[in-house]
Amino acid sequence: MTREQVQHDVAVIGGGQLARMMQQPAIALGLRLSLLAEGPDVSAAQVIGDHVVGSHTDLDDLRSAVGDAPVVTFDHEHVPPEHLRALVAAGHACRPGPEALIHAQDKLVMRRRLTELGVPCPRWAHVTEPADVERFGFPAVVKTARGGYDGKGVWRVESAADLDEPLSAEGELLVEELVPFRRELSAQVARSATGEIVDYPVVESRQVDGVCSEVIAPAPNLDPALEAKARRIARTVAEELGVVGMLAVELFETDDDRVLVNELAMRPHNTGHWTIDGAVTSQFENHLRAVCGLPLGSSTPRQRWAVMVNVLGGSVTDLAAQREAALAAEPDVKIHLYGKAVKPGRKVGHVTAVGHDLEDVARRARRSAALLRDGVAS
Ligand code: ADP
Repeated sequence: MTREQVQHDVAVIGGGQLARMMQQPAIALGLRLSLLAEGPDVSAAQVIGDHVVGSHTDLDDLRSAVGDAPVVTFDHEHVPPEHLRALVAAGHACRPGPEALIHAQDKLVMRRRLTELGVPCPRWAHVTEPADVERFGFPAVVKTARGGYDGKGVWRVESAADLDEPLSAEGELLVEELVPFRRELSAQVARSATGEIVDYPVVESRQVDGVCSEVIAPAPNLDPALEAKARRIARTVAEELGVVGMLAVELFETDDDRVLVNELAMRPHNTGHWTIDGAVTSQFENHLRAVCGLPLGSSTPRQRWAVMVNVLGGSVTDLAAQREAALAAEPDVKIHLYGKAVKPGRKVGHVTAVGHDLEDVARRARRSAALLRDGVAS
């Protein structure tokens, strides 16, 4: 049988670890995925047999990967809106669709919309010249509207001189107050094509150099009123923006007990990886259920605590060779390797520990991740 004759249920655009981790629940649910992969051996292409190699900016490549799949979903937010509209016009349900996704693609569009909705955000402005930022005040955080990730495209600025380079490169920027935050939180919801919503416990996410390093679920000592507020914000955003699939709302918990939205991701998110081993239904499973219009599963934690630690590229270049040592040291910590070549700082895997004692759970997860990353326990 040729590839064209196979009926796929969902086409996934982008071959990173998020697409890779969708394949496990797809197997269990009996859903057949097709994939547009950036290369023949990228993370998800290793596990999704029905893949086309091509670019998400090329409409022909997109069409060829999508085939006759009724539903299209994403590993990342970078498919141009006009291509999404072309797929919709051809009868495919893009989930999330272009009108929702634009809020995860463009931070200025996102800030405008959330402000209209009355969702709490840092004070912000759209700037096109250094004088605009002078008026806004320093210190400030400036961001490119599009294309940033993992802290790239985000700068702290102290004076107008710091703006010359980014402004001349970009033409326009988003400027925000430098939020005095206690910690970063993430509120995730799954919203099905039927409108059903399931929200997950709010988690704490710790960042190093703009990259998520670990997640504690649920966020320790979070004021129940703030937790309820964060959950409400995530539900409101999912409903008002018409998100279908997983939504992550990254939040700042401020020193004066408020939650402010930092940014949105409309796909499974690094801050939800703990759900694979720590929740009744993982974010990857609920994402697939949601985009297929299937009933959603419970987000209830399986144990009191889950700690997820990212494995970023370190001194170990052969992760597989370290697997045995990590499993021998911490047999109950779950290892997830992404099949990616190790480069310094690159996300190449994660580990999750669950249990009743937070200190012990965190210690075990960090030890396993350190063994994988550097070959020695932290
Ligand atoms: P990216 O899209 O690259 O993930 P973010 O907007 O999430 O960029 O910013 C990256 C990090 O920069 C955040 O996780 C946070 O630590 C810091 N940051 C972003 N905006 C602000 C702000 N307004 N005030 C203080 N810190 C910020």
